[in-house]
Amino acid sequence: MPCARLARMTNKDDKGLLLNGGLLLKGGVLPDGNSADIRIQGGKIAEIAGSIAAPEGVREIDVTGQLVSPGLVNGHVHLDKTLLGASWIPHLPGDTVAERIKAEKKIRSEVNVPLKTRATALIDLLTGFGTTAVRSHVDIDPDIGLAHLEVILALREEMRERLSIELVAFPQSGVAAAPGTAELLNEAMKLGVENIGGLDPAAIDGDVEGQLDLVFGLAERYDAGIDIHLHDGGELGIYELEQIAERCRAGGLNGKVTVSHAYALGMVSGSVAARTAEKLARAGVAILTAASGFGAMPPVKLLLENDVHVFAGTDNVRDAWSPFGNGDMAERAALIAYRCGMNSDEDLRAAFDMATTSAARALGLENYGLAAGNPADLVVFQAASVPEAIASHAARGLVIKGGRIAGAQAE
Ligand SMILES: [Zn+2]
Repeated sequence: MPCARLARMTNKDDKGLLLNGGLLLKGGVLPDGNSADIRIQGGKIAEIAGSIAAPEGVREIDVTGQLVSPGLVNGHVHLDKTLLGASWIPHLPGDTVAERIKAEKKIRSEVNVPLKTRATALIDLLTGFGTTAVRSHVDIDPDIGLAHLEVILALREEMRERLSIELVAFPQSGVAAAPGTAELLNEAMKLGVENIGGLDPAAIDGDVEGQLDLVFGLAERYDAGIDIHLHDGGELGIYELEQIAERCRAGGLNGKVTVSHAYALGMVSGSVAARTAEKLARAGVAILTAASGFGAMPPVKLLLENDVHVFAGTDNVRDAWSPFGNGDMAERAALIAYRCGMNSDEDLRAAFDMATTSAARALGLENYGLAAGNPADLVVFQAASVPEAIASHAARGLVIKGGRIAGAQAE
């Protein structure tokens, strides 16, 4: 069985090992269905070909018939929110964003495990399932100040070889609603954060123009990307999406703006959703979905048909917002497909793309994918194809990040 074979080929001592002599994966199935050998050298993919003879000193692993994909990419996670590493904390009720913010503050005040420990536990989970890059939002508000950001910035340096981490300065308590936040966001951007975040400009701040002025202003000042959490529903949410698209178009920010969740798109008629999708596509605004149970599901197929850039993330993993989540991006792709009635092989490939190539594009990852010369970030699934891997929640036989063995579930 592949599982036993990989267990023999790799062992716990291999974890983190950079195979200086090189590594050769034999007989894997690429996402396009072709079989190939992949040779890894010096942390990069050296060669992909139908059949490669192992040069001397190169370690060989037989992955015949198993899918080898580029590393999974989590386009939306909250490393600083997770409660992993602490004992189980019951979920507090609260159905609105405002109630959830309040619940989170209460839970946060009671957690006695340091943020670094918890975030590290989440990174262990993410990487174990084959995620090699993430975009993490980090809370910034007058209570927290920049404290979370400082921890996560240090952790990202420490984890650089295990996980690529891009950050969003996220005003979880709003901007106008939490005086002092605007100045903190400005300070955060100076520390090397790649994206400025936002949150429900209407429901939380009651000032769509004010919040968007600040967010787009900071993006311009720091040449940063934008990623706005938008839970606001119905016509109100559609209006905000239109405002964001218009500002994106006017500012020439095509490809640099994301709206996360955009539940409103799943709450209006198909014609309104299609009309809005056209505007998003034309402006180059991407939509992030986590198939969250918190709100309506945006119509992913309709968005893709209208050429909207859609990508995926886990969002909350075991935190005050959700008791659920294991950090597995392949499972998340399956959840998105499940909720959207995406059942054909083509649909499952589209869902997989949202957790790999499309998410990598949103993060602006350079040299992503299975090609000679790119970083050796890849995952071996115990499945024979992309659709099977997604639909069956296939185990990861082997995870490699930058040429290092990052994990093998078969161990
Ligand atoms: Zn989020």
